[in-house]
Amino acid sequence: MSSMKLTCLDCGQVNRLPSSKLGPGAKCGTCGARLMPGKAVEVDFDTLQKAARNDDLPLVVDFWAPWCGPCRMMAPEYAKAATELGDQARLVKLNTEQHQKAGTAYGIRGIPTMAAFAGGRERARQTGAMPAASIVSWVRGAT
Ligand SMILES: [Zn+2]
Repeated sequence: MSSMKLTCLDCGQVNRLPSSKLGPGAKCGTCGARLMPGKAVEVDFDTLQKAARNDDLPLVVDFWAPWCGPCRMMAPEYAKAATELGDQARLVKLNTEQHQKAGTAYGIRGIPTMAAFAGGRERARQTGAMPAASIVSWVRGAT
C-alpha cells in the first residue's frame, strides 16, 4: 500500500500519509500531534469510532476502568506490548467509566476487554488480563 489513512488520536482528524512516512516522526496535519505516539494513549468514544472505521493500520483498544484491579495490573503489560508492536499496530485505551457510551456501543460486559480492529472491522476480542507477550501474539494473530 502506497498511502494509508490514520486517525489522529489527539484531535480525531483522519490523516492520509505515504506508508513510507509511517513512524515516530509522522505528525497530524491538523494539530501536529504524533500519529504514532509509541505508547498506549487514552482516546474518547468519537476518536475510537473514527480510528476503528478508517485506519489502515490495525488498532487495538483496551476497555478499562480505574476501579478495576485486573485492568490496573495489566496496564504496564499493555504498555510493554505497545512498545514491542512498534508500527505494526496502534494500541489505545478507553476509560469505560468516563466514556460509558462506548462500553455500551461496543457491548463490553467485563473488563479488561481488548478488541482488535483491522480494515474497518473488529477482528478479535479478548476479555481478561494478559501478560505482554500474550498480548503481542494475540494482536499479531488477530490482525
Ligand atoms: Zn491531530
